[in-house]
Amino acid sequence: MPAPVTVPCQYKTGRTLGSSSFSAVVKEAVHITTGEYFACKVINKKLMAGREHMVRNEIAVLKRVSAGHPNICRLVDHFETAHNLYLVFDLCTGGELFDRICSKGNYYERDAAEIVRTITSAVKYLHDEGIVHRDLKPENLLFRSKADDAELCVADFGLSRIMDDNKFNVLTTTCGTPGYMAPEIFRKSGHGFKVDVWAIGVIAYFLLCGYTPFDRETQYEEMQAIIRGDYRFEPSEYWEGVSAQAKAFVKRCLTVDPTNRPTSAEILADDWLRVVGGDNKDPG
Ligand code: ADP
Ligand code: MG
Repeated sequence: MPAPVTVPCQYKTGRTLGSSSFSAVVKEAVHITTGEYFACKVINKKLMAGREHMVRNEIAVLKRVSAGHPNICRLVDHFETAHNLYLVFDLCTGGELFDRICSKGNYYERDAAEIVRTITSAVKYLHDEGIVHRDLKPENLLFRSKADDAELCVADFGLSRIMDDNKFNVLTTTCGTPGYMAPEIFRKSGHGFKVDVWAIGVIAYFLLCGYTPFDRETQYEEMQAIIRGDYRFEPSEYWEGVSAQAKAFVKRCLTVDPTNRPTSAEILADDWLRVVGGDNKDPG
């Protein structure tokens, strides 16, 4: 194993936690004087050339939201050297939701609802702050610890945007991961907060059955299926034990027309999530 590299600002980086889609790698890091552990996203400036604004944007968004909600992965520090940019986060040792789904096969409906409620609560907070995440998917949802009941947090603000009040619905650049992308992104008709609600629908579907709703042979077919909203609660053996409430929730989120799709505040109040909700627990 290569020796740990000492970086400025008192952190020593160690094993790799995850690889990044762009020019970055996420490593475990220990603060030399306090001994505290963190996750450090190391971004190579040369490989990042031309996309520096994306990192500056990620930092700006993180600074705005880091302390505001318990289910957001906090940025605790950032600095740079001649070659790299470093973003230091809370360390989430429990890994990605994606890996837990894969190792568990599927979640019980109650667990799924609990997870979806947590994500929706964090997303509603972001939306209230004027931020659209745009890359919600199980790889970007991390467990703070390895415990079975570990807290989940939203990470990866690399594609997020601060929405200007008078510019709602005008983002037009294509971004995200095809399977979780909303139809309006492919139609390039402008998109906004509602893309996150769509992604929550895809994640809920995934948690309930273990596969995604628009999975097709090719990316083109997948995109066509998304634009048409063409998905089913099939094969039936995966869905017969799932409640009508859960299916209704998914259906609401996967409304093709974003103007008819509910907001994050509206889906947070959905009956399916109310059952597991903190303050508004079902009395029955
Ligand atoms: P990218 O924009 O390249 O997808 P992410 O911020 O999603 O970068 O980080 C890539 C991966 O690194 C994540 O999917 C996750 O596995 C790991 N990772 C990121 N942040 C943390 C963290 N705070 N704690 C533990 N692992 C992390
Ligand atoms: Mg990511």
